[in-house]
Amino acid sequence: MAKVIQEYKKCIGCGSCAAICSEYWKMTDDGKAKPIGSKLNSNGNYELEVEQVGCNQEAAEACPVECIHVKP
Ligand code: SF4
Repeated sequence: MAKVIQEYKKCIGCGSCAAICSEYWKMTDDGKAKPIGSKLNSNGNYELEVEQVGCNQEAAEACPVECIHVKP
């Protein structure tokens, strides 16, 4: 299992993650992105557990504000 964490407040809504990794990322009504099926934690970050990291690594590398973190 791996964990994908997004610092939601830092997201600038550039759309890169959703373009690169639409299996796991989608844009929201407020113009930011979030991981599909993720949960909001007490720090205001979205967390998603995944079996395989998959394209989340590419999404993290593409994020211009480095708000996506992948923990194997
Ligand atoms: S790549 Fe980063 S800044 Fe851009 S929409 Fe995704 S999480 Fe937000």
